[in-house]
Amino acid sequence: MSQVDTADSEPRLAADTAIVKQYLDQAAMPEQLDSAELERYRSQVKKLMVEKNARLVAHYYTDSLLQDLAEESDGFVGDSLEMARFGRECDADILLVAGVRFMGESAKILSPDKTVLMPTLDATCSLDIGCPIERFAAFCNQHPERAVVVYANTSAAVKARSDWVVTSSIAVDVIEHLMDQGQKILWAPDKHLGRYIQKTTGADILLWDAACIVHEEFKARGLQDMRALYPQAAVLAHPESPAAVLEMADVIGSTTQIIAAARRLPNPEFIVATDQGIFHKLQQEAPDKRFIIAPTAGNDATCRSCANCPWMGMNSVHRLYDSLLAGDNEIEVDAVLAAQAMIPLQRMLDFASSNRLKVRGRA
Ligand code: SF4
Repeated sequence: MSQVDTADSEPRLAADTAIVKQYLDQAAMPEQLDSAELERYRSQVKKLMVEKNARLVAHYYTDSLLQDLAEESDGFVGDSLEMARFGRECDADILLVAGVRFMGESAKILSPDKTVLMPTLDATCSLDIGCPIERFAAFCNQHPERAVVVYANTSAAVKARSDWVVTSSIAVDVIEHLMDQGQKILWAPDKHLGRYIQKTTGADILLWDAACIVHEEFKARGLQDMRALYPQAAVLAHPESPAAVLEMADVIGSTTQIIAAARRLPNPEFIVATDQGIFHKLQQEAPDKRFIIAPTAGNDATCRSCANCPWMGMNSVHRLYDSLLAGDNEIEVDAVLAAQAMIPLQRMLDFASSNRLKVRGRA
């Protein structure tokens, strides 16, 4: 096994932290509206979607009102790849993507003939920010002997530079497939997910050094205390969480796998280590069960996110309405780049079909 050389990675991580902070400082959160105003926007968006033949796809981490709006208007709520696939298969002219920017890009790559709009183009992701194409391409060029496997939470340019794009639930299968072919791996960008795959498969993986600011905040010490408080609870954790948290988890999985586990397991309570936006769907799918957010506090807590992704929080119904009305915040992906990014994306979809796997993404 190998990893990025620490002497090289520490300065890079420090620089990335400053860049992420800069993005967060600039993040303009939507204005708070009262319930009457929210209802007014909700019905206006629905009317406008019919007029413009638009469909809303929303991520599990977005506001519950947006998730409900997507479902009651023949749209879709899911993880990033399911959102993109739904977008490709539906017959809308306009796709409204409530999520973060790489999700809009994936939707556009899979549906180049559709117009893709987002409530805001400022909603990004610390994994995307932490893996800029220039540095990433240089890193790949230094290791030409390795198969380049990237997570879905990356820019179109990074996807275009890769051999494979994977989601969290298919990553282990793809890496095992590459191991069978005798390949060594270069993995980017999430180091925690990369380490989890490395540990699970024993593959020779060179890790990029980036993390999700939401999942990185979960703390093992606090989780230990919480388990003592809720002895009947099972711990459900997303693999972007730190290794010490994953070691205490009963189920490690993508957002969709976490929801499935909550339905399936007999426990009356669950401690959940992922973004709190998922609680809306968890409560819908398992109404008799209790969900508790995993602790984010601790001695080294920074609480930049506290189980709420600030970029997911930038999506709102009135921003959605404004974008649809004016045709603003359109996602554009250069056609050549999109065609290049489609190759590793399609490779994953073909692999999943031939292995009869369900490709379930995350974010
Ligand atoms: S929750 Fe983490 S991985 Fe998902 S969009 Fe936010 S920063 Fe990115």
